Amino acid sequence: MDKLPKSTAAIKLILLAALGSVLFTTGGAIFLFRNTQNLISAGRWAEHTREVLLSIQTASDLTQRTESGSRFYRVTQDEVQLSNSRRNTIQLRTRATRLRSLVADNTHQTSNLNELDTCSTALLHDLSTNPPDLVHAEAHVLHCQQTLSLMAGQEQELLKQRDETTQRRSQISTLTELGLAGICFSTMIVLFSLLLRDAILRGRVVEAAARTNQELSNSVHSLRNHGREVQLLSLARDDLQLCTDAPQVHRSAAFRFSELLSGTNGSLCIINSSRNMVETVSSWSANDTNSGIAEIFPPETCCGLRSGQFRWHAPGASQIDCNHFIGSAPRCYLCVPLVAHGDTIGILYIGCPDEAIREIVESRTEGVRQLVQLTAMALASLEMRKKLEHQSIRDGLTSLFNRHFLEIALERELARASRRKGALSVLMMDIDHFKKLNDQFGHSAGDAVLKEIAHTFSACVRTEDLICRYGGEEFTIILPDITPEATLHRAEVIRKAVANLRTELDNDLYSSVTVSIGAAIFPRDGQSSESLLRHADAALYRAKREGRNRVVMVEDSSPASV
Ligand code: GH3
Ligand code: MG
Ligand code: MG
Repeated sequence: MDKLPKSTAAIKLILLAALGSVLFTTGGAIFLFRNTQNLISAGRWAEHTREVLLSIQTASDLTQRTESGSRFYRVTQDEVQLSNSRRNTIQLRTRATRLRSLVADNTHQTSNLNELDTCSTALLHDLSTNPPDLVHAEAHVLHCQQTLSLMAGQEQELLKQRDETTQRRSQISTLTELGLAGICFSTMIVLFSLLLRDAILRGRVVEAAARTNQELSNSVHSLRNHGREVQLLSLARDDLQLCTDAPQVHRSAAFRFSELLSGTNGSLCIINSSRNMVETVSSWSANDTNSGIAEIFPPETCCGLRSGQFRWHAPGASQIDCNHFIGSAPRCYLCVPLVAHGDTIGILYIGCPDEAIREIVESRTEGVRQLVQLTAMALASLEMRKKLEHQSIRDGLTSLFNRHFLEIALERELARASRRKGALSVLMMDIDHFKKLNDQFGHSAGDAVLKEIAHTFSACVRTEDLICRYGGEEFTIILPDITPEATLHRAEVIRKAVANLRTELDNDLYSSVTVSIGAAIFPRDGQSSESLLRHADAALYRAKREGRNRVVMVEDSSPASV
């Protein structure tokens, strides 16, 4: 903001300097012109005085010659001498007339000339009488000479004054010229300095403007990139929230990473539940080439996982290679650990084919960090949801479905069987004399038996069958799409498998472990879940009564009542 007043002041200064210089130069030139005119005039006057002096000198010579001629005449009486003297006197008068025109402006010299006129007239008269009056003539010659001498003296004085004037004016001219030249030179230097300063300032301003423009365009560019990144991250967040299982998260994350880091190839790798292996779960590639990372590798082979932070392997960064590659490691790559709630759950591997791509990745480090975090959080929350779901429908000891789930599942399976006009069986099972086992071996041994029996049940049924812990040492199995014969057969298989645990596991704990089973069949033995369960329980009760370690079907126990 303060640049503008400064530049206005500089312009004002330049204009003032220019105006002052023009005025001063014009004034100086006028003064110089006048002084030169005066100098020329003084020179002319000096020349004029010299001419006057020359005329006086000529007149003086004529007077001299007149005197010489009259003297010769007095000695020799030579008429020629007398005639010469008269002629010289006449020439003197003529010269005096010319002198009068030359000194017309000078009153002293005019009066001297009047004097010269008078004495030359008298001289001519003295020389012209017969005989000539030589005595008076000599006196008049002397008078003429004195007058001319006076005139010469006055002219000399005048010449001296005029010479001095000429010299003074000449000095003034020289000084004025020098002064003007000096001032013009100084003004030029000042103007040039101002212009130079202005040019330098303008250059700096242009440079600063170019710099600002560059910075502005860089800012716009990075803002655009940032905007794109923000949009991409927002899309990724939406996608990841929609994912219902881990593979979906893996695919979605790989796709978003490929968009964020175009030109790269890479893989998402997750640590398995035993935490002894890392599995490559999804990959992307800019040119359909493999990322080069192994399908499965131990966690310790990745330096990024070991260091727990962003780790570049590139010229100028770390040169220690990870060992999770098929073949040799690439020259430039990045490993980023995936951390959720403080747990490292995997790594993101990003391969850069060249330096330019590496610079792009480096410029988007924040975006990578956020997308990695989103991915890790999405995977962690899916895992958490899975755990919660498990906890809400599973029994903590045996991992079988709980009674709550049984009630819901049985309703659902009955509805499905009704729709399809199919059949369904419910097995109700109770471990025989379990109290005794607890008393004999302890409660934790009883828990171990419960787990083993749950495992045995799982091994004896189909995947679509649902095994539930009904409560305590009682279990229920729902067998969809099954005939009464197959139900009896399946129940026998289960009963025998439990009874065989003794020999199979060779453990005293299982020496007397058997199970009694009551079976009810839909729709024959009951139409609703309560009815079926009640009938199955009744059959179980009969099995217990009849000696345990057996299977009793409802139809064997009592007529069905719905
Ligand atoms: P039977 O059914 O053959 O008539 O005899 P029982 O001894 O099995 O009969 P009861 O139903 O009276 O006893 C069941 C016992 O199971 C009582 C209880 O201590 C035990 N029990 C129930 N739940 C658990 C459990 O989660 N762990 C252990 N260890 N024991 C359990
Ligand atoms: Mg019981
Ligand atoms: Mg029991």
